[in-house]
Amino acid sequence: MPASAASASREILTRLHEVMAARTSAQAKLNRVVAIIADVLQSEVCSIYLRRDGLLELFATKGLKQEAVHVTKMALGEGLVGTIAEQISTLNLDEATSHPDFAYKPETGEDLFHSFAGVPIIRKEDAVGVVCVQHVDPRKYAEEEIEALQTVAMVLSELIANAGLIDNEERRGSKVQDTSAHSLSGLKLVDGMASGRAVFHQPRVTIEHTVAEDTEAERHRVYAAFDKMREQIERMASEAEFGVEGEHREVLEMYKMFAYDEGWRRRINEAIDSGLTAEAAIERVQQRTRMRMRQIDDPLLADRMHDLEDMANRLLRIVSGQLGSAAQAGLRHDTILIARNLGPAELLEYDRRRLKGVILEEGSLTAHVTIVARAMGVPVLGRVRNVRRIIGEGDLVLLDVGKASAFVRPSAAMEEAFEARLETSQKRRAAYAAMRNQPPVTLDDARITLMVNAGLRDDVAQLDVTGADGIGLFRTEFQFLVSATMPQRERQQRLYRDVLDAAGDRPVIFRTVDIGGDKALPYLRIDTGEEENPAMGWRAIRLALERDGLMKAQARALLEAAAGRTLSVMFPMVSEPWEFDEARAIFERQREWIAKQGRATPTRIRYGTMLEVPALAETLDMILPKLDFLSIGTNDLTQFLFAADRANPKLAERYDWLSPAILRFIRRVTRECQAADVPVTICGEMGGRTLEAMALIGIGIERLSITPAAIAPVKAMVRSLNICDTKEIMETLLAHPPADIRATLIEWAREKNVEIV
Ligand code: PEP
Ligand code: MG
Repeated sequence: MPASAASASREILTRLHEVMAARTSAQAKLNRVVAIIADVLQSEVCSIYLRRDGLLELFATKGLKQEAVHVTKMALGEGLVGTIAEQISTLNLDEATSHPDFAYKPETGEDLFHSFAGVPIIRKEDAVGVVCVQHVDPRKYAEEEIEALQTVAMVLSELIANAGLIDNEERRGSKVQDTSAHSLSGLKLVDGMASGRAVFHQPRVTIEHTVAEDTEAERHRVYAAFDKMREQIERMASEAEFGVEGEHREVLEMYKMFAYDEGWRRRINEAIDSGLTAEAAIERVQQRTRMRMRQIDDPLLADRMHDLEDMANRLLRIVSGQLGSAAQAGLRHDTILIARNLGPAELLEYDRRRLKGVILEEGSLTAHVTIVARAMGVPVLGRVRNVRRIIGEGDLVLLDVGKASAFVRPSAAMEEAFEARLETSQKRRAAYAAMRNQPPVTLDDARITLMVNAGLRDDVAQLDVTGADGIGLFRTEFQFLVSATMPQRERQQRLYRDVLDAAGDRPVIFRTVDIGGDKALPYLRIDTGEEENPAMGWRAIRLALERDGLMKAQARALLEAAAGRTLSVMFPMVSEPWEFDEARAIFERQREWIAKQGRATPTRIRYGTMLEVPALAETLDMILPKLDFLSIGTNDLTQFLFAADRANPKLAERYDWLSPAILRFIRRVTRECQAADVPVTICGEMGGRTLEAMALIGIGIERLSITPAAIAPVKAMVRSLNICDTKEIMETLLAHPPADIRATLIEWAREKNVEIV
């Protein structure tokens, strides 16, 4: 018997190498493979069963009766072979007949043999076959022999997939280890319902070659990949000091631990010693770990396993150079995208016609990816634990964000319930659509201005769909986010002109670029450098004033696009009045320059600012006289007031918008603006939620700029509201705040029949 697992595997793989390269049929190859394994492992029998037509069929054997080949078939879960495939586990028995799952197949003549060992042949985490050995003597196979068998199974998976010997994935159905229906719950990020097939944002790497040509070269590839992975993790850790979206501390600590785990590296190295390629070695170690973990039922360990899977996949992607996301590969059907987290630019890369929904393991309500998804009308369920473990690539998923849940591989009953809810929601949508031409007027005749937030060209159509009063926030950076390179002035101008044309008489407020924070541009990375706290760093107006080439080009594009009409422009992240003055001066200089060229300029320019940095609230007396309007960005404002990163999933539910701090703050700003006769709008996500919008109206807000999907529900709320009553209750609540303002307001709204959803 060979001395070590590596040498047994190595011997088999060296001999398999020739078999694989030979120009013979797949069947002939399999016949050779069983002979080689039986020989090296000194077993009387070696057999290969493959999945065909849903059954495990004996494809090749050395030692059993040849008449049984392609005749003996077993269902998943039937007999020892079926059990191995179903559970994706290894069996090693000295007396096969004593196992409760043993099923005797007389045509094989296997009654002669006592000992039995079998391992699954795995492809994409699914068992596509089983390779087993049997022996007359009742002996257990040594650990090294089992390992050799597992290594061979990897190579077989390549051989049989290339030869098309097995059922394709669709015929096989979803993963063997779990085909049951699941209901997952999470946090509502973007409301809506959708169904589609699961697609992983970062797909698993498919291993093309398993047998190495040059072991030393493979070793170097793994070493280099480890170095690169460590670098990546270190960089992520340094960027994450303030909680860069998605990668939070704990996970990174765990990643770091794995990246420097010598045991892991050693095991991969050993697998390379046995003759596997770098990719196959990583996968081989991962398969072994998975099998072990399956036997331990510990949720904490399962979580760690999930992190290790992530790391192994990362390592595989580096080593194989398969770095693209599923967006680059293209979506083939209606898709529910699965990811730990996403950046807004990554989301925008997907084909909007096929992307039906997103499920994130992390995510928060005001992260830009959520805002972008909302703008795209793509429902998002966030904070779903272990999603990538429970859902398999290609599984059918029904997403019902309204219920904060998703159904995976749904049962007929789940599908029925989903359809029923879909019908109700479509009816509600139809009712909302019918409200399109009704004005947002309260029961006591107060007219509320409802505008939409936009950023993409297609969003403008929402003005007509919703009947909104205008665009209260046009996020110009979205064009920058979706471009591979910096959009030139002409391209910017074209977009702005199209938007103004489509809006007609309705006002559009363009916000100059707010880049930085969680809206990083790959082509600007060198400039922003490595920031510890990008949300509080060199972003928005700060960056724009310093890189004034960017601001000047945008100013020109806006001024030219609005020639002969009114241009409304506002600046993001203004913290002190001088920043507004400087930004305005850039626009004014550009206007003068255009006029000097004898070209048309806007008939009027309305200048405004966002209030999202609390410091600005202390200098309103200085800045208000210069403003035509002010817009409160509650997304950033909240993160700065509470010192709570808006993209950090751990803080996603910690602070409530309906808290005395936020509401009193907004009330104070609103009153000051009204006293100075400066229109004030809320343009953060807060205003798009019916209960929050009601509270805002109660503290004096009369203008909301919200996501298009929120227009109808907010309008319905407004039309069922008595503004005097609302102001009264808000005064009372803010004078003596109860422990839970939200609960109190929900109750109050119910009593007053205010339509809250
Ligand atoms: C805000 O901060 O509330 C806002 C509207 O701007 P953004 O979400 O784009 O940062
Ligand atoms: Mg903001």
